[in-house]
Amino acid sequence: MDGSIGFDTRLILVGGSWRACDSGQLLPLVNPSDGSALAQIARGTAADVDVAVAAAQDALQGAWGQLTATERGRVLLKMSALVLEQADELARLEALDVGKPLKQARADAVALARYLEFYGGAADKVMGETIPFINGYTALTLREPHGVTAHIVPWNYPMQIIGRSVGAALAMGNACVLKPAEEACLTALAFARIAQQAGLPAGALNLVTGLGEEAGAALAGHAGVQHVSFTGSVAVGALIQTAAARNAVPVTLELGGKSPQLVFADADLDTALPFLVNAGIQNAGQTCSAASRILVQRPVFEGVLQRMVQRYRALRVGPALHDLDVGPLISARQQALVQGYLDLAHSGGAMMAAQAPLPADLPQGGCYVAPTLVAGVDAQHRLAQEEIFGPVQVLIPFDDEAQALAMANGTAFGLVAGVWTRDGSRALRLARKLHCGQVFINNYGAGGGIELPFGGVKHSGHGREKGFEALYGFSTLKTVAIKHD
Ligand code: NAD
Repeated sequence: MDGSIGFDTRLILVGGSWRACDSGQLLPLVNPSDGSALAQIARGTAADVDVAVAAAQDALQGAWGQLTATERGRVLLKMSALVLEQADELARLEALDVGKPLKQARADAVALARYLEFYGGAADKVMGETIPFINGYTALTLREPHGVTAHIVPWNYPMQIIGRSVGAALAMGNACVLKPAEEACLTALAFARIAQQAGLPAGALNLVTGLGEEAGAALAGHAGVQHVSFTGSVAVGALIQTAAARNAVPVTLELGGKSPQLVFADADLDTALPFLVNAGIQNAGQTCSAASRILVQRPVFEGVLQRMVQRYRALRVGPALHDLDVGPLISARQQALVQGYLDLAHSGGAMMAAQAPLPADLPQGGCYVAPTLVAGVDAQHRLAQEEIFGPVQVLIPFDDEAQALAMANGTAFGLVAGVWTRDGSRALRLARKLHCGQVFINNYGAGGGIELPFGGVKHSGHGREKGFEALYGFSTLKTVAIKHD
């Protein structure tokens, strides 16, 4: 057990008070870098979700509901400043808990601060409209909070996902109940403490840890919740949407992806190369928008392959606190899943173009897999169709733009795509024809893109978070028609 976490991880936050969960039971958090016990968290259940939702309802009627939009924004700005002040510690916690190299974890802490800054600044800039209408009337719209919003968050980017969903929801005046993933809770718990330090009124943010099928399911289906924001797997997303449908409340589903980068022969390959690999191995490939398919035009295919091979061979894998290129996967379960895909590649005739070496002295019990570049599979192969959620990329050649587009759009997912070309017309044409939520031209990821609406189509989900658009998602529109003469 790491005694240096600095706060009691076994408590949940309800109505401004930290307390034990109803069952009194605890769940273990494991350090994926070495398999050691890291901490324990409360195993919250439906009873805890009930009191958390009630506390959120009270907050809407109480001090939180009384704040002006500007005052809400100021609290978020204070939270942002505190997150930045504590960024090193937050990064350390995330590295221990998720296994991501320290630099990547610190970038997530900075992104969390930036989300809070963005939404803090935007809180009092969301306006309704007046509508030209029948003579003798004035018609207008008001943007109002949904009420109680549920936030069910995965383990891969806890800080960023809390920033983009809880940040936007609070800015609009909702009261939140947050359910982090059972695999990684430390920064969610630390964030809730920061919110208290910043003076966020009691009950505006409640946090219940626990299992997805217990606390998560209770929250998604709770009759007192007016909006559910879910980031996670397609299968659980369907359960969430079904549960929310019973209460007729809206959901935002941010699900998986099999995102392509399309590299044309006229691309600036020197610029593209680092993006091609980094977008596949960042966070050990456990990124919803990971560029897991690299589609390359045939004349430059061999050159791109060789350069990616060199980069893969140089990748350094190790414990998160060693701050190398790639850390462990989140859990032994995820490790086995990804290893299953590598076995499939071996047995299915795929070419393992390159594998990063795993050092002999990796800690026993750590959840490591060798980052792997696969070639020689066609676009219909399972490795090219299914989300692997590990450091595995497939490289596939194409002949022309039409074929590249068909391949890019030819999976069940539609989250993100990247296009590398010097041909401006082609770039714009593809930006319109790619069936996904974000297209990056001659870049990929745009450094996180806090300001840029994000979300998917098809099995990648629906609804948008990030950017100003999230503020519309976390509010509802009321129309007022006034007859005055
Ligand atoms: P998951 O769906 O198993 O879990 C996500 C969250 O849902 C966790 O908090 C979990 O406790 C909770 N949960 C699990 N079962 C539940 C249930 N029955 N009812 C309510 N809540 C439940 O996903 P995961 O394996 O933790 O995360 C990986 C997946 O998330 C990948 O598919 C990835 O692409 C996706 N993801 C998407 C984005 C995005 O922004 N689009 C970001 C990160 C991860």
